[in-house]
Formats: sequence, structure tokens, C-alpha cells
Amino acid sequence: MARSISYMTGSQLLSLKRRPNIAIVDVRDDERGYDGHIAGSLHYASGTFTDKIPDLVQEVQGKDTLVFHCALSQVRGPTCARRVVDYLAEKKEDAGIKNILVLERGFNGWEASGRPVCRCTDIPCKGNSA
Ligand SMILES: [Zn+2]
Repeated sequence: MARSISYMTGSQLLSLKRRPNIAIVDVRDDERGYDGHIAGSLHYASGTFTDKIPDLVQEVQGKDTLVFHCALSQVRGPTCARRVVDYLAEKKEDAGIKNILVLERGFNGWEASGRPVCRCTDIPCKGNSA
């Protein structure tokens, strides 16, 4: 079953991100290293994304909602989200993932709206700090 990708706004994400069933997937490349990131987000760089989809699906076990973003969520974020949809369709399983979303305006929009940015260098980000 083909599924569609929806968009979610930063304020929707901010109110939902503490829920344990959501994984935020940052697909920016090197920018993540110097621009900060959304606390608790996973990092799967778009450059190597396709090869790592099985790892991603493994890592998000137990989550039913994945929210993808890149810097602007115009190209890399939606492209990677689509690749996960296609991957799951091909495998004929959903791995418990019900919703695949893209964060509107990406990380840059998130930061420009004054939402909390984490600048830790932990891999993975533990998501404690603002
Ligand atoms: Zn962090």
C-alpha cells in the first residue's frame, strides 16, 4: 500500500516530541556538526541514507511516527522520507511505523522560530538539554 507523506509544523512537533513513540530523523549532512540540532534527534545523513535505512528501521523499533527534516525540508528531508516509504513497501512490512512526516521549513525554520536547539556533540544525542 502506497502511503503518502504529510508535513508537520514546528509547533506541532514541539508539542509532540516528548512522546516516546516519535523519532526525529535529521538527514542533513555536515551542517549538523556546526549548526546544532533538535534535541533527541537521530542523524542519518542524506549522502549515505539509502544504505542505512535498515539500521534506521532497527533503531526506531517501538516508534510509530518518524519525522524527517533537513535544513529546509525541501529536498533531502522529503526524499529520504519517501525512500523509507518505498523501502517498507518493498519489504511488505511496516515495522510498526504508522506515520512518516516531514518537518515543514526544516531545521532552519525551527531555529528561526526560536525553538530550542541542542548543541551537544553526543552521538546519539541524548536530548536532555534545550
Ligand atoms: Zn544534542
